[in-house]
Amino acid sequence: MKNVLITGGSRGIGAECVRVFSEAGFRVFFTYKNSGEEARELEKNFRARGIKCDVSSFKDTEAAAEIIHKTGEIDVIINNAGISQIKMFQDITEADWDRMFDVNVKGMFVTSRVFLGDMLRRKSGRIINISSMWGENGGSCEVHYSASKAAVIGFTKALAKELGPSGITVNCISPGVIHTDMNSHLSDEDMNALIYETPLERIGNVRDIADTALFLASDKAGFITGTDIPVNGGIIM
Ligand code: NDP
Repeated sequence: MKNVLITGGSRGIGAECVRVFSEAGFRVFFTYKNSGEEARELEKNFRARGIKCDVSSFKDTEAAAEIIHKTGEIDVIINNAGISQIKMFQDITEADWDRMFDVNVKGMFVTSRVFLGDMLRRKSGRIINISSMWGENGGSCEVHYSASKAAVIGFTKALAKELGPSGITVNCISPGVIHTDMNSHLSDEDMNALIYETPLERIGNVRDIADTALFLASDKAGFITGTDIPVNGGIIM
């Protein structure tokens, strides 16, 4: 049985990854920061273990690794935990900027760094990072978010080159607009405008992203590395 670690698995896209990977026969470990209740609910219903761990903290992540390594080594990492914020550029504070990069970029570094040894020892493994269409195209009033998600793409491409000879693939997925708490601030009018701009005429759902991650983790994706897969209904921003 393969082991997957999903960061930020308590809600949204991460929680769907917990469900989809568990149903596909993986033993699932996931982290969360605040949503203990949601984590316990997932544990009740799926073959999954939730661990409270701030993704940006080496200390927390190493403590999580100690728990996980009692059961086995990680075959697949999904660096999903992320935050967003809508702010005019002039209003972004130093604290906003640091928090954005701590969670969205440092978190991916910390998790990959702590669990890479598991993969290097076996000369196989998959790292799947969640970027965003704003990382590809840039979003107005989301400069810090967009910059952090562009960093996810750069990280993916560079690490893929370094780890290819070790049999480890590194890819990222750039979701378009997906129905989760992250978009709860959008009005019905905003949603309709986004649907209008999307050739497939709908907002994405969490399953669209979890299924893509499952494909990238599968043997079918063995020759894919260093790539960014847009999953956005064809929206052109
Ligand atoms: P949600 O806000 O629904 O869920 C975010 C998840 O990340 C939660 O499980 C949350 O845990 C966890 N998390 C946040 N901060 C931390 C932290 N410091 N340490 C550990 N876990 C943390 O977001 P989505 O599911 O929508 O987003 C998932 C990923 O997809 C993000 O990287 C996001 O940027 C990206 N994305 C989302 C899009 C969308 O339209 N929804 C579009 C493009 C990209 P807790 O519940 O404990 O707070």
